[in-house]
Amino acid sequence: MTLDEIKALDAADPLRQTREVFSLPDGVTYLDGNSLGVLPKATPDAMNDMVHRQWGKDLIRSWNSNDWINAPRRLGDKIGKLIGAAPGQVVAADSTSVNVFKALSAASQLNSGKSVLLSENGNFPTDAYMMEGLASASGNRLHAELVERGHILARLDRGDVAALLLTQTHYKTGALWDMADVTRRAHAAGALVIWDLSHSAGALPVELDACKADFAVGCGYKYLNGGPGAPAFIYVAQRHQGQVMPALSGWMGHAAPFAFDDQYDAGRGIDRFLCGTPGILGMCALEVGLDIFQEVDMAVVRKKSQQLGDLFIRLVEDHTSGFELASPRDAERRGSQVSIRHKDGYAIMQALIERGVIGDFRAPDILRFGFTPLYTRHVDVWTAVSELADIMNSNAWQDEKYAVRAAVT
Ligand SMILES: *Cc1c(COP(=O)(O)O)cnc(C)c1O
Repeated sequence: MTLDEIKALDAADPLRQTREVFSLPDGVTYLDGNSLGVLPKATPDAMNDMVHRQWGKDLIRSWNSNDWINAPRRLGDKIGKLIGAAPGQVVAADSTSVNVFKALSAASQLNSGKSVLLSENGNFPTDAYMMEGLASASGNRLHAELVERGHILARLDRGDVAALLLTQTHYKTGALWDMADVTRRAHAAGALVIWDLSHSAGALPVELDACKADFAVGCGYKYLNGGPGAPAFIYVAQRHQGQVMPALSGWMGHAAPFAFDDQYDAGRGIDRFLCGTPGILGMCALEVGLDIFQEVDMAVVRKKSQQLGDLFIRLVEDHTSGFELASPRDAERRGSQVSIRHKDGYAIMQALIERGVIGDFRAPDILRFGFTPLYTRHVDVWTAVSELADIMNSNAWQDEKYAVRAAVT
């Protein structure tokens, strides 16, 4: 494929104008929006208004006058549109880790006759760690168990799984679970399902309601472009909401927080999955990111994402050697990233970053490239692979400065 052909793909791209909504630094090819999304151009002004007017002048009145108090529900419904959830089932709140805990504890309560919290080996660590924490908090009534990806369905059939927690798009390989099929199989085995959508929300169409999912959680700072440490979200299917006594029964989830009752009375609907005072500054930035999506067709995002991934694989295979594809080759079975393996992956990624091509590295040997169709162009894929090929051909990555590990990879 020639550079002209690649530029023609960008010229015909229905999302070419959405790129203009983002503030992208010159000289950078950013392929890490799956780890930290970029800054929308509207965010600084929105934050400025939030800080100077809403906080600075309106002060505590803003909880009412600027509707701070409803931010978790308002943003939750905007996220719901992206993940196939009817209104009233999602709130923006806390971190993904905390929301994993809320979902696991709720599921194990609803399924109190069963004792296993199940996930796969190699899932994002916080998911497994939260399972261990809840098992311990339960006085070991519950047991955390990880099995190989290929054994999940068979393990369910033993009938003792209370909750199955899976990341729909695997963070390292981008491999996708079939949400409808796995949810159906889990329900048939009497398990409830929690979907971690950290690498799915804003990356591909998700149909939680249609799949009859029970719970879901996900990040605000990846594909949703909500800024570093943005509020996360939790989805609880309407049919379950009234049945759960929240383990994290904070006052913001109370039916009447400003009644200041001595006793906890769980809030109605999704409200009871709130815990403490929401981080309003973070909500402000996240809402700007979410509003960009309100005009975007996720089917168009998906199609472009698959094209970008396919193009990357093809160019890497045509122009480099020594890498092994770690992601599914079939775009239907892949999220919005492509990962390749190399034993010197860390140094190679450092050399790429120094040349302005930003992806990331996941131990022990994965180079990860995220494609965010709202602002990634086909020409960015071409640039990334050209630099990668040059680094490999010139052995530039062997410079010892690239072997020094930073705290965050
Ligand atoms: C990024 C990510 C998280 C992050 O959790 P935090 O609580 O925001 O640190 C959780 N799960 C998965 C699958 C992720 O990819």
